Amino acid sequence: MKFTAYLDHAATTPTRPEAVTAIAEQLATGGNASSLHTAGRAARKVVEESREDLAKALGCGPSEVVFTSGGTESDNLAIKGTWWQRRADDPRRTRLLIGATEHHAVLDAVEHLVNAEGATVDWIEVDATGRSNPEQVRDLIERDPESVALVSLMWANNEVGTVQPVAEVAAVAHEYAIPMHTDAVQAVGQVPVDFTASGVDLLTASAHKFGGPQGVGVLVARRDATLTPLTHGGGQERQLRSGTLNAPGIRGMAVAATLATQELPQEQEKLAALRDKLIGGALDLGLDIEVTGAHEIGDVTARLAGNAHLRVPGCDGDSLLYLLDAAGIECSTGSACQAGVPQPSHVLLAMGITEDDARGALRLTLGHTSTDADVAAFLHALPAAVDRARRARSASRAGR
Ligand code: PLP
Repeated sequence: MKFTAYLDHAATTPTRPEAVTAIAEQLATGGNASSLHTAGRAARKVVEESREDLAKALGCGPSEVVFTSGGTESDNLAIKGTWWQRRADDPRRTRLLIGATEHHAVLDAVEHLVNAEGATVDWIEVDATGRSNPEQVRDLIERDPESVALVSLMWANNEVGTVQPVAEVAAVAHEYAIPMHTDAVQAVGQVPVDFTASGVDLLTASAHKFGGPQGVGVLVARRDATLTPLTHGGGQERQLRSGTLNAPGIRGMAVAATLATQELPQEQEKLAALRDKLIGGALDLGLDIEVTGAHEIGDVTARLAGNAHLRVPGCDGDSLLYLLDAAGIECSTGSACQAGVPQPSHVLLAMGITEDDARGALRLTLGHTSTDADVAAFLHALPAAVDRARRARSASRAGR
């Protein structure tokens, strides 16, 4: 069988075998956690034990854990739910302060509120490394503190791995009694995440990014967070998220979160060493490759341990992606296609990178199954892929 190097853990990381076992056990057992009979109470017990495990892993109280279908739903509930409720409490509160490099789950929820409901947005900028400045957040608030409904800034970026000063920004927001949400989807399992210590009011996490199953996640919400629900029905999860609880998925998520937290210090060290080998090796190939964002050997605080982001001049990232895939290397460009047309990443543009430079982007992300062999295979395959992608780009330009 052909060797495949999976270097796309930020898209989804393989489900941990312990989580697979836990999911299968709960699937086989069954039961609706809202039923009052024995089977229902057994499922409820599993859900509540999982809630406690997740609370330990995320540094929050069990009653602050709201189960959802994943990162996208949690982000939507945090952004729309807070905006609706805060505006209902005081109609002046229509303004959102949002990180310029957020995931589309945040950006598109915001866009909906702007287009359909009259919200306005001010962007929290980033510097060349992708990091925001808490003092800019203060300046934005100071323009009109009474008008701000919510501040949202991601814990770590999904494309370039930059870690944001979330606790500092939460402290600024709280000086003005404004709630703060953070999308910690890429952070959990890669850096220590402590909800209470961070001071945020709302935090998004998604199981499939830390070794749990796809389609399940949490919104950690302080008990005093004021949110209007997105869904209405059975009133589960503090009336915030109606719907039968996904007990197998929740069990698998809790098992994965516990393992990811326990293994975090060793995992960070292993991943940073692999990341540094990958970045150093790519820069040494003599292909004029540049690394995006802050990179210091061994550092796991400014950039996620498992994230490498490279820009290859003279190439289209998509061509590189397909050529590498044919060579058994699975990675990403980091940016999304819109209507089939590759768009330069809004993250790279916000960092001041030109459209042309942003086109040759490659995101390589490592996780719990990554090995030296994956990095070696990538470095081995890269020169030929770059050569072909550059020739394809020159040929298409000459033919224009
Ligand atoms: N937020 C970030 C930062 C992400 O990276 C992702 C997924 O890539 C999401 C939100 C969406 O999470 P989910 O896939 O669980 O809907």
